[in-house]
Amino acid sequence: MTGDKKKSKRKCEECGSTDVVPIVYGYPMEELLQEAEEGKVSLGGCCVTDDDPNWHCKACGHEWRYTRAKRKGKPYLP
Ligand SMILES: [Zn+2]
Repeated sequence: MTGDKKKSKRKCEECGSTDVVPIVYGYPMEELLQEAEEGKVSLGGCCVTDDDPNWHCKACGHEWRYTRAKRKGKPYLP
């Protein structure tokens, strides 16, 4: 197979390593636990806030938050 699409790999903003995994919050399913054991994801626990990091660098241990679309101060509707 020659499907080498240039996918922009997530990089650690601290050390530049691409050895980063998403941090998964919530109650881990069995499948997820397996992936965590294999080091594919990092489990963040079941309590999540808006400021929690969602990326974890396996190279330096840095954790940071990345959001695809920057939300522009939309008014919070009650
Ligand atoms: Zn790093």
